[in-house]
Amino acid sequence: RAKATGKSRCVVYSARDNGPPAHDISLEAAMFSAVREGEFLLYYQPIVSARTRKIEGFETLMRWKHPTLGMVPPARFIPIAETNGLINLLGAWALKAACVQLRQFEQAARRELYISVNISPRQFRSDKFLDVLDEALAISGMPGRQLVLEITEGTLMVDPAHAETILERMAGREARIAIDDFGTGYSSLAYLKRFPISVLKVDRAFIKDLPGSSKDAAICNAVLDLARHLDLSVVAEGVETEDQLGCLAERGCHYVQGYLTGKPMPPHVAIAALNDDMYEALMPSESRL
Ligand code: C2E
Ligand code: MG
Ligand code: MG
Ligand code: MG
Repeated sequence: RAKATGKSRCVVYSARDNGPPAHDISLEAAMFSAVREGEFLLYYQPIVSARTRKIEGFETLMRWKHPTLGMVPPARFIPIAETNGLINLLGAWALKAACVQLRQFEQAARRELYISVNISPRQFRSDKFLDVLDEALAISGMPGRQLVLEITEGTLMVDPAHAETILERMAGREARIAIDDFGTGYSSLAYLKRFPISVLKVDRAFIKDLPGSSKDAAICNAVLDLARHLDLSVVAEGVETEDQLGCLAERGCHYVQGYLTGKPMPPHVAIAALNDDMYEALMPSESRL
């Protein structure tokens, strides 16, 4: 099907304003040529210490730079890739490229950082997943402990027994597991007991109305408390304002990620941000902030 319709960029473009199915079919066709043409890119968003704002790691976020449509958001193309299986190819590339990229970031920063990579449900369940993981660590020479794999509650709960097997087999690699969009799934908390989870990424849904919303503040408090008792780290997603950051830091949230402290950026911009961090660290502390 890709070959039949994928040639014409016109189809993609004109289907833009039609209903979603037509759009998705032409988008799907365009994805295959996009892989060949190298239109997929990786952006990196800083994950910073809530207290010091120093960059501790980056989340890898995929981008599709289409020649005429411009940037196609992952919310549009990841679900399609998940359906047609292209996610295995794209996901494997992202994991390997991100690990290699981290080494370059560390050279710029002259300190240890970590890299967080989103793993789709289908990719996580794939037979090849552990091989890809091993290859990513081997080609980058990066220790597994510097890698965080972001999965959702849904990924674990579709087939918990299988997830358990994969995570058991992963044990020797020391890569950590983060629950992405924490709090937005439909599962119980039982999986926190069953699976070896290290990080909770609190969804932006609970952050965006801070500090005004007392309900969200209560939810954040409860998550931070839970994390403390289970020895998990917490990353607050989608932090956009100083007030949100202040509120989270005050409550003992260790890491934040959001537009306030850095949007997703191409590698060369991330390196510049790391350099800024380094110069700031050299300045006397009174002149910071
Ligand atoms: P996610 O993993 O929860 O990623 C966080 C999303 O929040 C990113 O959207 C990021 O750009 C956005 N974001 C970060 N800070 C802020 C903020 O302060 N305000 C707002 N409004 N948004 C913020 P993005 O890059 O569009 O990615 C959307 C989703 O697509 C991701 O959600 C993830 O589920 C998926 N995705 C992205 N890259 C990959 C990938 O390489 N593999 C897989 N399987 N999924 C990916
Ligand atoms: Mg994520
Ligand atoms: Mg997330
Ligand atoms: Mg999210």
